[in-house]
Amino acid sequence: MTVREFSEATGIGAAEILKALLKGGVIANINQQIDYETAAVIAADFNLETTEHVPEKLASLVESIDEVMAAEKPENLRPRPPVVTIMGHVDHGKTKLLDAVRSTRVAEGEAGGITQHIGAYQIEVQNRKISFLDTPGHEAFTAMRARGAQATDIVVLVVAADDGVMPQTLEAISHVQAAHVPMIVAINKIDLPAANPDRVKQQLTASDVIVEDYGGTVPCVEVSARQKINIDGLLEMILLVADLEDLKANPDAPAVGTIVEAELDKNRGSVATVLVQNGTLRAEDNVLVGSVAGKIKIMFGDSGKRLRFAEPSTPVEILGLEGVPQAGDILQVVDDLHIAREIALQRQRQYRMEMIASTRGPSLDDLFDKIQQGQVKDLNVILKADVQGSIGAIEHQFNQLNVNQSEVQLRIIHRGTGTITESDVNLAVASHAIIIGFNARPDPAARRAAEQQGVDIRFYNIIYQLTDDIKKAMVGMLEPEYKEITEGYAEVRNTFRLPSREIVAGLYVSDGKVQRNLSVRVLRSGVVIYDGKIGSLKRFKDDVREVQAGYECGLIVEGSNDIEVSDTMEFYRTEKVEPVM
Ligand code: GDP
Repeated sequence: MTVREFSEATGIGAAEILKALLKGGVIANINQQIDYETAAVIAADFNLETTEHVPEKLASLVESIDEVMAAEKPENLRPRPPVVTIMGHVDHGKTKLLDAVRSTRVAEGEAGGITQHIGAYQIEVQNRKISFLDTPGHEAFTAMRARGAQATDIVVLVVAADDGVMPQTLEAISHVQAAHVPMIVAINKIDLPAANPDRVKQQLTASDVIVEDYGGTVPCVEVSARQKINIDGLLEMILLVADLEDLKANPDAPAVGTIVEAELDKNRGSVATVLVQNGTLRAEDNVLVGSVAGKIKIMFGDSGKRLRFAEPSTPVEILGLEGVPQAGDILQVVDDLHIAREIALQRQRQYRMEMIASTRGPSLDDLFDKIQQGQVKDLNVILKADVQGSIGAIEHQFNQLNVNQSEVQLRIIHRGTGTITESDVNLAVASHAIIIGFNARPDPAARRAAEQQGVDIRFYNIIYQLTDDIKKAMVGMLEPEYKEITEGYAEVRNTFRLPSREIVAGLYVSDGKVQRNLSVRVLRSGVVIYDGKIGSLKRFKDDVREVQAGYECGLIVEGSNDIEVSDTMEFYRTEKVEPVM
């Protein structure tokens, strides 16, 4: 119950309760929920007896949309509009295309046209609807997938006709293929004199995306988002693909959906955009959304109009939740708000526990166990390397492994050069993959995400050591011996050379700490330039053993004379791990 409800039930003043909570180290407000144990302790202070009321369970707690759809009877299903996400390289025209689609197809007569931005919108073509998620890019898509959400039916991959296939195009392709979502290629900017759609198609073929006029299965349309050329062609293609996908839902069920965006608005409180995926959501429904509950106070459509109900594939904005959910959280309608609150509270506790325990992603060791038990037949790998040449060499080795070890298939679901990013980590969670950094390192955000989600990132700088480990994992002889622990990061702010020719790096410690006895890697754009020992560590003129984040220091890397301003230094130690019996 909330502090207010507890106060009303017991007659203890709310201020007294807040004071008692504060004594226990909990800073609360009057609307905050407290759990039974906390309430019981406070009640005991006031000589009140308590008994725990264990609530009835919700008839069904929804864990995933797939599970909901699997339980639906086929005769209750009706066609529903497709939900589309646009992806592609930066500046290839994703935003412009979303705008073009929207402006050509706003339903007539909607007051003042569309001004609202709610993170998704719906249009009408040939009397049929299409929903677009308004956060372009594969990062948002995969972050949602990593949380178990599956909101997109079709991906439109935008490639600029003048620029061609670029690194983020390739990333998007990997992310879409890992998700097994159908894709349409939109070659954009065909109005430009430098446009060369054929070159784009050839480049795509080289990445195993073979468009229909090249004999493949991937539909491809040529458009100009700026000149609004062939936008209708794209929309028709989306409808065609949607028909093949046979998208259906039951409009008569209690609603289930996914949060697309949510924020705390100064004036309106918690505001969430929901994509309804099954059932019909009604203004005034009671809902449970992840670890938040609430009664919908008011519901808006994408054009800002108040809605009384929303059918499958409709994006709506809802007000009235008692907290701010996260993108990717599942919304379900519930009969009893009190039960919903209780479950929300349980989930909050559970998330906190998970944050502490946190082992969601697979590690190579887990995978090895599962391979041995015959539960896993694919070893999914995300490969990040320093240069393209290393990727080629590693892939060649992996292909050999696949030929020789037929039991388990090694699959590289994404490859690229440079820093290991948070988006790579999310892809690993969503696809049960491990990440291999070959002379490539994660940035701090990626490292934190990997730690939190339990994703295994393995580092190598010698190819045969990498293939050896993978081979062992595949045949079941993996013996992990050392674990690496990162202690801190620092930025190189300036450098100067001593008469001895050694370089002293002026550092700002940005994360964790530096200790004299740690090992150090010099990173340039996420690529390992040097790996070695600390030669000396000084603050001002004094030798020191340790420097904490937020401070500056001077450091010599033993044996290295290649350090530049804005390089990053990563400090780590290794720890022996006892082999698992
Ligand atoms: P995003 O980063 O993928 O969202 O790309 P934007 O939509 O912001 O577009 C990047 C730039 O390309 C902008 O200056 C657009 O005006 C321009 N652009 C987008 N589509 C077209 C097009 O069809 N033709 C031309 N000539 N320019 C375009």
